[in-house]
Amino acid sequence: PTSPIETDAVIVGAGPVGLFQVFELGLLEVKAHIIDSLPYPGGQCIELYPDKPIYDIPAVPVCTGKELTDSLLKQIEPFGATFHLGQEVTELQRREDGRFDVATAKGTRFVTKTVFIAAGVGAFQPRLLKVDGLEKHHDRQVFYRVKNPAQFAGKHLVIVGGGDSALDWTLNFAQDGPHKAESVILIHRRDGFRAAPASVARMKELCDALEMQFVIGQITGIEEQGDRLTGVKVTGSDGVTRVVPLDVLLVFFGLSPKLGPIAEWGLALERKQVVVDTEKFETSIPGVFAVGDINTYPGKKKLILSGFHEAALAAFGAAPYIFPDKRIHLQYTTTSPKLHKVLGVE
Ligand code: FAD
Repeated sequence: PTSPIETDAVIVGAGPVGLFQVFELGLLEVKAHIIDSLPYPGGQCIELYPDKPIYDIPAVPVCTGKELTDSLLKQIEPFGATFHLGQEVTELQRREDGRFDVATAKGTRFVTKTVFIAAGVGAFQPRLLKVDGLEKHHDRQVFYRVKNPAQFAGKHLVIVGGGDSALDWTLNFAQDGPHKAESVILIHRRDGFRAAPASVARMKELCDALEMQFVIGQITGIEEQGDRLTGVKVTGSDGVTRVVPLDVLLVFFGLSPKLGPIAEWGLALERKQVVVDTEKFETSIPGVFAVGDINTYPGKKKLILSGFHEAALAAFGAAPYIFPDKRIHLQYTTTSPKLHKVLGVE
């Protein structure tokens, strides 16, 4: 195995608060490595509401989840943080020398002086369709997210789910367009949807025009031929089970955040949240800080602006671990020549 990356700071989670932690550390001249289990930064803002407007970011009257993420990425650019995406942090352990061993599920390892847990509501994982034998078809014929829609063009698709992802992809593949599938069958357990009403209306139009089908029911089994998945068994509300043939099964049951390995790092927790003080947002393990939705303290509000404040104080709280001999003073970005230098705006 390759040797671990030695660093001053590792940030677990690249949601809005983890991203802003890069900024606050950067002002104190601390370079960070930032890790997320998702393949892109932005956390809940990107995963749950990229196009919805946020109205309570100070001095930004309105911006979408995606716009906020893009602005944060731009704002932290001068600090050259290293991103490690698509990998979950699985291990955190204190070393004899006071530093920490951190490792991801992909085997990236770090030795770091400080750790910032900005893990939000946990690592996002798709909710799985639980049917015997399905797992071996994962990423071959069964997918929980669409990375490259062209891969599914011209195929017989079965799509399961009733939320926006299920409906958006159904429309994408059923309508004329570059990724039109050979056939699309949408399966949902009931005739009511969480998705945008306009998408549902459009889906019903496509059904009326025989461009696709909608089936009410639950997937209760699979059909296979050799190694191939050839169909799913769908049990309808009438109790009858029918076989629906397919090339590809797309499942959109939403993403459920899992606290996962963080629960095993020996941190004091309270109802699955990491307990911190409100001076430094330090956890029960000195040198490990927790910011954003993952932490709890008296009066905690899960808001992005709270997370930004926490990130500032956590950076100051961490500085003595990184620069034991340096006195850290508060400086204004407006007027400090030193901050202008680190920001690259001299
Ligand atoms: P998150 O955004 O949850 O990001 C945490 C990241 O950490 C995730 O990407 C996750 O994959 C990653 N992660 C977790 N564990 C691990 C691990 N072990 N290894 C690697 N990566 C890991 N807030 C507002 O202030 N204003 C609003 O208007 C607003 N609107 C909202 C609307 C909706 C629909 C929702 C769901 C939330 C809204 N919020 C709003 C709340 C806001 O999104 C959260 O407060 C904010 O996202 C918290 O940021 P975070 O960085 O702490 O965590």
